[in-house]
Amino acid sequence: MKAPGKLIVISGPSGAGKSTVLKRVFAKSGLPLTWSVSATTRPPRPGEVEGEDYHYLSPAEFERRRKAGEFLECFEVYGRGHWYGTLDSEVAPRLQRGDWVVLEIDVDGTLAVVQQYPQAITIFVRPASLEELDRRLTARGTETREAIDRRLEVARREMQSMDRYRHVIVNDNVDQAVQQLCEILNSYREQE
Ligand code: 5GP
Repeated sequence: MKAPGKLIVISGPSGAGKSTVLKRVFAKSGLPLTWSVSATTRPPRPGEVEGEDYHYLSPAEFERRRKAGEFLECFEVYGRGHWYGTLDSEVAPRLQRGDWVVLEIDVDGTLAVVQQYPQAITIFVRPASLEELDRRLTARGTETREAIDRRLEVARREMQSMDRYRHVIVNDNVDQAVQQLCEILNSYREQE
């Protein structure tokens, strides 16, 4: 019989380079990793694709699905002003198939998922410090000072919960962070 899949939950402040690290891990880990595509009420950003980046739902449709019990977890994500949620249909069937399903969700969502899947592999990707995150966001130059300060406040709040995760990776060097994440994931393969 095929081994059941694994659930991997990744969180961490935006701007900490989480997406870059994850994309590289997907490309090189050799594991059967697959993304869970979340649902959200926020509108798509330029270049984002329905069904790839998110399932974009109207607030009414999101609420209907929430009431129908279709979400494994959903929250109005702190500091974002929109709802985000993981659909059960993105997770359960794939775990049954033996896939390793990766959720990139916030801290509240993670705690809710762990209640239902206590064996979930939870990983927090953090910047070296809030000062370093500030430097990165400022150097990127895509946001106003005010927007950066808001992000830093969200990051500070998220980092207060990082001891709730099984693993914490400091992303001060992308190559090393990719390596560490691959090692963590592979250590679970060896446990099969
Ligand atoms: P963004 O709008 O920049 O794509 O994502 C904003 C935040 O929403 C990130 O912190 C991300 O982790 C969180 N997020 C994305 N999808 C989900 C989800 O399905 N559930 C929860 N709880 N948070 C999510």
